[in-house]
Formats: sequence, C-alpha cells, structure tokens
Amino acid sequence: MTIQTPIAFTGAPLDLAENRRSGDDLAGFLKDTNARAFVMYHGRFLVKSGDLVMVHPSQIKGTHLYDPGPLFLGLDGKVPMFAFSFAKEEEAAGLVKGAALDHLRNLAFLMDGRQLALAGRAKSLFDWHRSHRFCSNCGAESKPQAGGVTRQCPACETDHFPRVNPVVIMLVLDGDKCLLGRGPNWPEAAYSALAGFVSPGESLSEACIREVKEEVNIDVANPEYKLSQPWPYPGQLMMGMFCEAKNTKITLDPKELADAKWFTKDEVRSVFEGTNPQKGTPFICPPDFTIAHQLIKLWLAN
Ligand SMILES: [Zn+2]
Repeated sequence: MTIQTPIAFTGAPLDLAENRRSGDDLAGFLKDTNARAFVMYHGRFLVKSGDLVMVHPSQIKGTHLYDPGPLFLGLDGKVPMFAFSFAKEEEAAGLVKGAALDHLRNLAFLMDGRQLALAGRAKSLFDWHRSHRFCSNCGAESKPQAGGVTRQCPACETDHFPRVNPVVIMLVLDGDKCLLGRGPNWPEAAYSALAGFVSPGESLSEACIREVKEEVNIDVANPEYKLSQPWPYPGQLMMGMFCEAKNTKITLDPKELADAKWFTKDEVRSVFEGTNPQKGTPFICPPDFTIAHQLIKLWLAN
C-alpha cells in the first residue's frame, strides 16, 4: 500500500513567472495565442466531459468579472495559464455549449492531478480576493496586483499577500491501534484523523499535542511530521503528523466531535482494501484525495 505522490492539489507544472506579472509582460501573456483560461463562478468550475473547460482569454471580453479580472496562474511550459471568475452565473455557464458548473469537492473525485492542482490554486486565490477586498490596516478598498497574487492599498500603500491557514492533522497511535474521530455533522459511519488550526505562538508539535488533548483528553508524545497538503476550502495548509498516545481513555469535547474510537490495524486495512469483516464495514474512510486518507495509508504501510 503506497501513498499518492504528488498528493492531490499539488504538482502544478507552473513557472510562477514572479518577475513578469505586470504591464507589458502580463498584457503579452493575455494576447499570446497559446494562452488558456478556465472559467469559474463563485468557487464552481466550468467543466465538460469531466475536464476543466479551457478558452482563450480573448473569449472573456465584455463580461462581468470578480477581482482580479484575469488571474495569471503562471506558465505551463510556453502556455500562459489564467483563470476568470464571473459575477453572473449565466455568463459563466453559457460560455461553452454543453458545459456546466461544478464544485471542486465533486471534481476532486474525477479530475487528474494536474487539473486539480491548477483548480485548487485558482480557487484559493479567488476566495482570498473575495474575502480581502478592504485593507486590514486602514479600511480602504485595496487593488489586485501582480496578475492577482497580491493586493495593495492605494491609501496607505500596505501590501497584502494571500493568506494560508496552517492546520495540523494527526493520527494518534497506540501500538497497532489508531484513533479516528467523527465531526458533529458528519455521516454516521464517517471517521477521520483529528485536526485543528495552529494557534499563534505554537510549533506544529505543540499544536498537535494541544488539539488531541482538547478534542479527546488524551496526552500524546513524539509528534512527528509526515506530509502536507494545500486544502483549497478556502485556503488551509494541512500538515499531517503521527503521535503516540500516553493514555487511551477517550473523553470527547462535544463541540468538536460527535464520536472518537480506537480502530485496530486489521479493521482499518479491511476498510482501505474493501474487504469487510463479518460484522460489516467498521467505518467509512475519507476519500483518497484527502491527506487523512494518505496519512492512514502511510501508517498501514509501516
Ligand atoms: Zn490601507
């Protein structure tokens, strides 16, 4: 059992072209006959036959667009890649015959890694523009810069950079058992790794220890970083860890979890390999494009 490499939402084949993101360079990329753009409306993507719809940026003239207008994702070889987010659903949906808008959560089950990486980057950047229109220093409306990867305030000249929120996600281990939890609004049988936001002033290890203590009142030792994943809902960076339980009695924080259980390696393997034990499937595992799925796989492989 091997983990997915690159993990979903990473591996975009892009040169970010940091020094060619404005003025004549950006205008030239938009006019380049090779240029391609994909189309969004409120976090949904225009797709046809399971693939992102790609159009030339010139096909998008004269429409209603959200900030930053053309979002320059970078260069895929010699192909300038853009994304546009429409303000009117009918304009986005009607751009290409036979295409339809769909959520990234659905597309993550269908799209290949390259498309998913591009779509995740675009979604996180558009979500950031939508929620950071105004300068957090003085309150004036800020303006997109550098092809949509930064904003600047015209009043106080503060530069604003896209926000990435760090989250620890951890597999708590006790010998051949691991602890998985179920969130308050999750389906009855769905269990996954515990997770929580890193707080200012904390290391990843400290955040891991605190979150496990808060959620299930278990003390853990030896937090060990394993792998990470950008999570574009809207802009988290998930940092996957293993840690060892020093005690095993679970006391739930009901605000955070509806349930948490210890599962044996055999039980978890039966779920991941689709071989149900006689009692039926012990739980429903997180989808394979999630870091939780890959983290559990990594544990099963060792
Ligand atoms: Zn300002």
